[in-house]
Amino acid sequence: MTTKDSGWVPKPGGGWVRAKPTIYDELKDIANEQVESVSKPEKKKSVLEQNIEILKAQGENGDNLAGWYLRAVEKYPELKEVLILQRPEGKIGAFSRSKFSKKNASGRHEIFLDLTAGSEQRYMEDFSHRQESIRLIAERLRIQPEALSPRTFQVWILLHELGHALDHIHTNMTGKEKIKARADEMKTLPIGNGRIEDLRKPEVKEELMKKPNILEVLSEKYRSVITDFRGGKVNDYEDLIRLQEREYKSLPSEVYADDFATSIMLSTKFDPNKTP
Ligand SMILES: [Zn+2]
Repeated sequence: MTTKDSGWVPKPGGGWVRAKPTIYDELKDIANEQVESVSKPEKKKSVLEQNIEILKAQGENGDNLAGWYLRAVEKYPELKEVLILQRPEGKIGAFSRSKFSKKNASGRHEIFLDLTAGSEQRYMEDFSHRQESIRLIAERLRIQPEALSPRTFQVWILLHELGHALDHIHTNMTGKEKIKARADEMKTLPIGNGRIEDLRKPEVKEELMKKPNILEVLSEKYRSVITDFRGGKVNDYEDLIRLQEREYKSLPSEVYADDFATSIMLSTKFDPNKTP
């Protein structure tokens, strides 16, 4: 007899051994590997590392964005817990979502940006209809509006959104109160709640311009803030949008975010096209 059965082979010196590992041996190996991987876990990336990665992947402006992000984190280390997220492909714009929001999925304060290739150009184009905002940002950076490059503008947007996140980190309000405070601020705008992108829609314009004497009413109410408008008046729909942009930038939560972005960008000898 040369075989005991198909799974056994004669052992040199006598006796029998199993030819192949048994199911038990395989399970033991898997269990051992699992123990090893538990005791030596693959190093999980920190939020900071993930953020740097996603910023760097932007393309032409990636290193620049990552550099400014690190400068902000260096000054305010609490920001390294804020998650930077990529907006879905083709979605321009930027916004912050605090962990107080019902839509928040990560349990961290989040900011959303378009970080696909060429996004710096798209942000600039998107803001070509918000000249007042561009003017006010340039004024803060002590440059001419024409000197605000797409790369610098995208850095500004990143820092501005981080500013909102910092506001959420340091607020003394409860989450509910903070959300309500923002909603209340928005209602104070000349066109309450009106976002610029909505005001640019023809149907919204048509509806608003039907309101009797809307330009005169706004001219009167905002007389002290439009002294540099032609004739000190809201002359047309373009002026109405300009006023809305100006008042939006004066909302306390927007001033906080803009102050933050300004302080970071002016914290170094400012060269708009250089990584710090
Ligand atoms: Zn903002």
